[in-house]
Amino acid sequence: MSCKDKKILVATTNPGKIAELRAMLGGDVQWVGLGEFKDIGEIEEDGATFAENARKKAVGYAQATGLWTIADDSGLVVGALGGAPGVKSARFSGAKDKVRRLVDHKNMAKVLKLLQGVPKEKRTARFVCCLCLASPDKVLIETQGTLEGLINEREVGENGFGYDPIFFVSHLNKTVAQLTREEKNAISHRGNAIRRLKPLLDKFLQKTCG
Ligand code: IMP
Repeated sequence: MSCKDKKILVATTNPGKIAELRAMLGGDVQWVGLGEFKDIGEIEEDGATFAENARKKAVGYAQATGLWTIADDSGLVVGALGGAPGVKSARFSGAKDKVRRLVDHKNMAKVLKLLQGVPKEKRTARFVCCLCLASPDKVLIETQGTLEGLINEREVGENGFGYDPIFFVSHLNKTVAQLTREEKNAISHRGNAIRRLKPLLDKFLQKTCG
């Protein structure tokens, strides 16, 4: 028996994220997005940790659809800010602009303001991504990926999204917003979490579908 008739739901409506997971995880399964399920409500990301949010979404959407479901949660953790913005990364400044770039800019401005006068060696930060695969009745696989860096003094670079323009990667001497998509994927928290998930998913599918 193979898994080729088995569907795995990616708990996002973002076609980019679905394509990325399909490309990186492959496998003999069908990948579907939340767009195929118009009637299910949104699950709130109100957990205290990235792992909790990913688990809540994976189990919740698996129960709502009956499908194995992969969900993620990610964000920025700044040492000198006691781990903030953390699970509040998307809404750190409280800005409600419709244009995502404006919200990103206000979130970055808040981080930069809070770190004003903090010397370079104390501006350590980490991007974290937690992934969870669940069936309707249990968590099947969980992985985490990270990317270490420093918060830059100002925004630099045009690529990416979120906090990329202020996240400086020392060994590349660039912010994440100065990297191409491929360069970012090769080192990113999300890429690392997906690369850790791949062998575990392959083993799980082999065991389940033969
Ligand atoms: P989500 O888990 O994709 O919803 O990400 C939550 C928030 O964390 C985003 O809105 C961004 O502010 C931030 N974030 C997550 N991943 C990245 C990244 O790769 N670059 C920059 N910001 C990120």
